[in-house]
Amino acid sequence: MSPTTPSTTKAAVHSAEGERARVRLDAVRGALQAVGAEALLVTQSANVRYLSNFSSPDDGRVLVTHDGAWLVTDGRYTVQAEEESALDVEITREWIEWVAARAADARIAVEAENCTLARYERLRELTGRDPVATTALVERVRTVKDADEIALLREAARMTDHAFARVLDGTLRAGVREIDVALELEREMRAAGADGIAFEFIVASGPRSAMPHGVASTRVIASGDLVTLDFGARVAGYHADMTRAVAVGPIAPRLRELFDATLAAQEAAVAAIRPGITGREADAVARDLLAERGLADAFAHSLGHGVGLEIHEGPRLSGRSDDVLEPGMTVTVEPGVYLPDVGGVRIEDLVLVTADGHDVLSKAPKGYREV
Ligand code: ZN
Ligand code: ZN
Repeated sequence: MSPTTPSTTKAAVHSAEGERARVRLDAVRGALQAVGAEALLVTQSANVRYLSNFSSPDDGRVLVTHDGAWLVTDGRYTVQAEEESALDVEITREWIEWVAARAADARIAVEAENCTLARYERLRELTGRDPVATTALVERVRTVKDADEIALLREAARMTDHAFARVLDGTLRAGVREIDVALELEREMRAAGADGIAFEFIVASGPRSAMPHGVASTRVIASGDLVTLDFGARVAGYHADMTRAVAVGPIAPRLRELFDATLAAQEAAVAAIRPGITGREADAVARDLLAERGLADAFAHSLGHGVGLEIHEGPRLSGRSDDVLEPGMTVTVEPGVYLPDVGGVRIEDLVLVTADGHDVLSKAPKGYREV
């Protein structure tokens, strides 16, 4: 469209999708005003998808002004962009020049953690003024999910539960490699219609369970192992994230103690999730409980993180986080303990913060079990 045409964005159309886009754009415009800018160039991939609904966000950018919003992409995506985008579509290879011209009268804000220095300087050269550097502007809006997003997260969690149930009934046995379990989890998710996996799955058995991020290896699972499985499906861009620990045959008493301590800490922390609690307070619930059992140092990471279009996003549940939980936020609750030479356990649920508390989206049983 020409720069002089008054904006009649698709967002103005009274469809559910248009309404959703309008609400998101209004929130972004409010935040923009607060930092003294009149336009925002969005380059961060998940933010591009959030505002435009474009499913190839790495190849798109969004420009938000006070009266318009555009998805800017190139000729490979003409059909897809028109089909998916909740915003007006601009097809051009010279996107930064187009953005500078379209927002010529505005102070343009950029995403400091994503905009390259070269693009920042190009924008300054084209507009004759310094772009405004912003941090987490759209990300903060994204922390509170709307009903559509919650439905997708619920579905991703459901597919994750389903894949776990299938693996428990079949593949997860002594004599099987960790990678075979990871493959089977992925196969079940894709067969159920997931976009794919939410991240590289962790299947850490035996001594490898002492590594919080032990991605599935070719190690053969043995009897007496406690196996940590951390995995999730991705549905329409939304991620699920769950961890379960499963014993393969009877395990050593010390490992069982670690499991029981972790489960108690996880359940206590889940019970504490409600609007108004801070990330720091939630983290302390699990940490204090583990400290009482002498496992303070073994809990070597934070309690959890927000989940949505990114696997790790705000709010943060950690000892240093002042983030305050609000209804509509989705967070993980995942205490873990790791002792070299003994092993490790982590238990993780995906949890929605509701008006009066929480709703655990991960439904798979998490109590002690041997296969
Ligand atoms: Zn996880
Ligand atoms: Zn997680």
